[in-house]
Formats: sequence, structure tokens, C-alpha cells
Amino acid sequence: MPVVPMQQILKHAFDHRYGVGAFNIVDWVTMDAVLFAAAETKSPVIVQVSVKTVKVMGAKLIRVMFEEMAGRVPVPTTLHLDHCPDRKVIEDCVAAGWNSVLFDASKLTYEDNLAQTRQVVEFAHQYGVAVEGELEGIKGVEDGVGDEYGGPIVALDKAVAFIRQTGIDSFAPAIGTAHGLYKGTPKINFQRVAEIMEAEPIPLVIHGGTGLSEETFHKLIAYGMPKINISTQLKITLADSYRAYLEEHPTEYDPLKLLGAVKKKLVAQIESFMHTFGSEGKAA
Ligand SMILES: [Zn+2]
Repeated sequence: MPVVPMQQILKHAFDHRYGVGAFNIVDWVTMDAVLFAAAETKSPVIVQVSVKTVKVMGAKLIRVMFEEMAGRVPVPTTLHLDHCPDRKVIEDCVAAGWNSVLFDASKLTYEDNLAQTRQVVEFAHQYGVAVEGELEGIKGVEDGVGDEYGGPIVALDKAVAFIRQTGIDSFAPAIGTAHGLYKGTPKINFQRVAEIMEAEPIPLVIHGGTGLSEETFHKLIAYGMPKINISTQLKITLADSYRAYLEEHPTEYDPLKLLGAVKKKLVAQIESFMHTFGSEGKAA
């Protein structure tokens, strides 16, 4: 199936209240695993990439690889740039034909963030590229972006004004989730989600998906959070499955067997998320 716009995936999931995983890939094997799991479960899926990975592989190579690999699976897929404070990288990704970007100007003042996000939206929309906006800074460091504190919560009327005036396609609010691994049970601010949704119904994004309970996912999805970011868990599964295979097969030197074993573990992990999010069977 050809690659589809992010807006299409978000709208369908938002309207029908299910979640679509945005899985962070780092190479061919991880991209292959995400797409394979999507095909197996008939799930729409978002292939997500951090700026750090873009800097290693290059925006164009990732896009070309994505286009070719996504074309082989019969489900809607789209390519998204995760937390990006750097407008040059956003321009490179848009020029390379990516579908969506998160312009992360959460370190700027409210006014500067609003003004710059509006410019990024104007630019990106000319090419049909969706923009995710962020106002408050999500707790935790994700591939070199962010800090352990996150930003202060912005008043509801200012958050709503930000959504309206920038024209963003989705919004990533700080609701108590965090990047990385949770030390205790996260305290999720469901009320905040309900308030935003009532004031301005826009697809909201769950950051820090790793470690949230099934019940929390279901509740947030039902409120209107159709995009769910999963990065940390895939990094753990990736490293653990390499390690386990190499320890179990100390004299095996066929790289394709190693990569095949890693892919299998990743696919199982990703499929279980797709099942939890309710995206199974939603690929029309
Ligand atoms: Zn994030």
C-alpha cells in the first residue's frame, strides 16, 4: 500500500477511538519489524525516527528505505520525525518527502514557541506534511532531547490558543507521562486531557508510552489520544535480544540468523502493543 498522510491515520484513529503506535526505529531491522508487525495485525502504523537517528542515517536514506519497505505491506503507514527543535532538520525531512514532524520548541517562551510553530506549520502544510506541536516539554531525555524535569503546565486557555493559532495537526500535552523508564507508577492527569478535548478536540499524542498500564492506554485513547509513542521498550527489546542470541549461539556467525532472531522478538513486542492499542484489524 502506498504511504499515506499522517492526517489520514490520525483522523481515522481519533474518530474511531483507537490508538496507533508510533514506534521509533533506528535501522533497517527495526523498520522491518514495525512494518511486519503492522501487516500481521492489519494495523495502521506510524514509523517514527529521532533526530539523533536522522543525523546518523540521513533524512533521504530513511525516506527512500521507508517508501520501498512500506510499499510491500498492505496497511497504511506514515513517516514521522520525533522531537525536533532544529528547523533545519525539519526542512531536510520535508524536502526528503517525510509525512510528519514534531516541532519541539518547548524550550522557548510561550510567545516564541507559538510564533515559530506557526511558521513551521505554514511551511510544512504547503507540502502536505503534518505538524505535531508541543508546549510544555515532556519529562525525561529522549535521544538527547529534553530534560528530567519537563516544563511547567501551561494554563488551559493558553494551550487552546496555541492549538488554534498555530494550526497544528496534533498536540503533545504534558499529562504526567515521561520518556525512559518509570521509577514508580506514573500519576496521569486525565482531567487535563478531558479539559483540552472539551475545549478543542484535536488528536492528542501520548509520549512516554513505555511502562504505562493497559488500563491507562485504554482510558487515554478513549479520551482522544490516538498517537502513542513507543521508543524505550523497543530499545530494551533490541539490545536484550541481540545479547540473548549471541550468548545462546557463541559459535554462530551467520548475521542473517542473528538479525532474524532479533526481528522476531521485536515483532512479538510490537504486536502486543498493537493489540493493546486496538489498532488490530483497523487497516482498511
Ligand atoms: Zn516524546
